[in-house]
Amino acid sequence: MGGNSICELYEIDYNVLLEAVRGVKKILLTAPDGLKKLYDCIREYFLSKKLFVELYFSSSPSYGSCYISMGELELIKPDIIVHIGHNEYPLISTNIGKKILYIPAFYKRAPQLEELEEMYQTILRKNFKRIGLIASIQHIKILGKIGEFLESRGIRTYIGKSAYNQMFPGQVLGCEYSALISIIDKIDAVLTVSGGRFHALGAYLVSRKPIIIYDPYSGKVIDFTKDAVKIYAKRLYLVEHVRNNNYRRVGLIVGVSPGQYRDRLVKYLYRLSKEKGFEPYLIVSDYVNEDRLASIDNAFNLDFYVVTSCPRIPIDDIASFYKPVLTPGEYLMILNNIRQYAFPW
Ligand code: SF4
Repeated sequence: MGGNSICELYEIDYNVLLEAVRGVKKILLTAPDGLKKLYDCIREYFLSKKLFVELYFSSSPSYGSCYISMGELELIKPDIIVHIGHNEYPLISTNIGKKILYIPAFYKRAPQLEELEEMYQTILRKNFKRIGLIASIQHIKILGKIGEFLESRGIRTYIGKSAYNQMFPGQVLGCEYSALISIIDKIDAVLTVSGGRFHALGAYLVSRKPIIIYDPYSGKVIDFTKDAVKIYAKRLYLVEHVRNNNYRRVGLIVGVSPGQYRDRLVKYLYRLSKEKGFEPYLIVSDYVNEDRLASIDNAFNLDFYVVTSCPRIPIDDIASFYKPVLTPGEYLMILNNIRQYAFPW
């Protein structure tokens, strides 16, 4: 679109978008921070089509399609919400009574031959024979090409099927790895195709298999296993710390965005906490960070916290908080007296 080169880097289905917004007057656009730069591509596209609608661009920190700001919805009252970058969040349980269009944005750059070779050499050095391929949605379209290359070099590859129809084969989210779980018994290691380490870390916590990352943005191939093992060990330590100190007063953080409001999970944890002699406090939070948590801790001075909204917040964002902050899966290990690590629920 237009003179904006970022628009050329991503494949967006503009036809679907055009069809969905035909006849509407007010649109609220949302996107994760890394893809907010695509807002301008949409704006330019609408102008090129002489589509003069009221466009509102959300600046909220929408990490996934799980997050929609209810405050924005209630005040702006858009006819349609367009979320750029993800498909529909499969674990959503709240109907917000609004039409939401999910428009994935696929990163177009294909892996270069030397990058494919580097993936193969990394696998070879470790003597892995059977590799599970997973990707974040932006890179899902290159999984097949990577698989073909590795197969041509004698590596057996597997792309699992997600338990949810909304998701592509091999696609994972930070909190949803059923595509990986479906092939877990067949593979020696996992090749994660995504930017950064976020999805790779989740893959390790779910599978405890060696993890290689191919980052399509940098073109780099990394053996991530050692770093993942360190984070895993920290999580286990934290669980045992809460368990062994017999901490009882727990803050259950309840998300209020539709995809992060996990009503059934919260009620289950609350009930089980009481049954097992814990003292649970329900804390509502649109967005959890160390400052928000500290403000609540100043009020109640609880022993530890469990974040039910996004299970990655305790691991990726506030792991160094001065009190233990657990995921639902980690708390359930304590409640049900389980030793084996459980992620994320
Ligand atoms: S990991 Fe967190 S931000 Fe990502 S989809 Fe899951 S709940 Fe949403």
